[in-house]
Amino acid sequence: MTTFHADLARRSVPRYTSYPTADRFSASVGADDQRAALQGIDPGTPVSFYVHVPYCHEICWYCGCNTGAIGRADRLLDYVGALEAEIDTVAGLLSGQLAAIHFGGGTPNALPAATLAGLIDRLKSRFGRIATVPVSVEIDPRHCDGAYLEALADAGVTRLSFGVQTFAEAVQRRINRVQPHRQVAALVAAARGAGIASINFDLLYGLPGQTLEDIEETIALSIALGPDRIAAFGYAHLPRAIPRQRMIDTESLPDAASRFAQSAAIHERLVAAGYWAIGFDHFARPGDILAIAARHGRLRRNFQGFTDEDCDVVIGLGASAISQFPDRIVQNEKHVGHYRSAVLGGGLAGAKGAVRDEQDRLRAALIERLLCDGSVDLPARDRLGGPWAEQLAELVDRGLARCDDARLAITPSGRPYARLIAACFDDARTVRQPAAPALSADIATPA
Ligand code: SF4
Repeated sequence: MTTFHADLARRSVPRYTSYPTADRFSASVGADDQRAALQGIDPGTPVSFYVHVPYCHEICWYCGCNTGAIGRADRLLDYVGALEAEIDTVAGLLSGQLAAIHFGGGTPNALPAATLAGLIDRLKSRFGRIATVPVSVEIDPRHCDGAYLEALADAGVTRLSFGVQTFAEAVQRRINRVQPHRQVAALVAAARGAGIASINFDLLYGLPGQTLEDIEETIALSIALGPDRIAAFGYAHLPRAIPRQRMIDTESLPDAASRFAQSAAIHERLVAAGYWAIGFDHFARPGDILAIAARHGRLRRNFQGFTDEDCDVVIGLGASAISQFPDRIVQNEKHVGHYRSAVLGGGLAGAKGAVRDEQDRLRAALIERLLCDGSVDLPARDRLGGPWAEQLAELVDRGLARCDDARLAITPSGRPYARLIAACFDDARTVRQPAAPALSADIATPA
């Protein structure tokens, strides 16, 4: 049983998919830092690759991702040419070992299956061909069929992430994303038939007009389809920053207490159905590799959320993609035209980022372990500056966290406030600071 704390729900905190968080990236870090970091990776270091496809067939009104409508047909081909050039440039600088490939966006399945296969082959051949390397692709179910999934399976894709969001048709209409349940069900069956063993659903709560009954129905239908993993994100309504969200009627959004109840219901139903709660917003079947990693303290968190991949280096390819190195983070140009100009000229597209000093790395490790494991050993008080101990004390007093000796643990009732507890270690924020919309640092999920 978790308790709704209205004052805490008003505090805006990041999702901590990185530390420092993206809002602290600056243009003082760019392509030169990216080049030095790539060259500094030891041979054999496991490297995870993320490939961003910033195009979609239609634009969903809730979406906060860096994406746009496909428009001209040659746009996609031009973009793939730029990706190929970037892969080749990175391959000339990096001697790490390919450990995993992810395609996200945007809508990766906006690309023909043969094009995705070509990119997978290129990555494998440039970074050490490993037949068993896991390859995941985000799928927009509205523009996909069984033949496409079979082609992906043949290309070595091992995991699909379906952007389901909600099965409630009335809510789908309010977000400009109508996709019947039968469409998703057919694709899940086709994926399994093609031998793709791992399937994820992305779901959203807090959508316009969404009710607790809608959530219950979506969860029941999802459980019946039996995905191996489910990620449940809160919709973040930020119409001033994301113009497409102005199509959504603010008045129709569930209030903070309703959002909290929806999130709690998702957790309760999925755990009752046998899913393991992973971190604060993921769920996995007990035999899924993510659940196994969580059981053994091997869960990690990066820009893609919770992951079983034990990689300290993540290379982002494509416009706006983010690369993560132990001592720095670099984000590519967001603007597709600028990105293409940079990589087609044989260069890198890093445009902003952050250098991580020793304090940043200590804080990053604390936050990651706390969010992944639910507990962490606290450092000696004088190793961290700032008022973190006082901020933590407030949350401990409310029963949301517990401190035994030097170990901090999130309590069961503190689970919905995990990010708020983690924010005590974020030197750019004070958890006492109120913020505008409840849980507004949640992100809209892609594809
Ligand atoms: S939610 Fe997915 S399909 Fe919809 S606009 Fe965003 S990236 Fe495109």
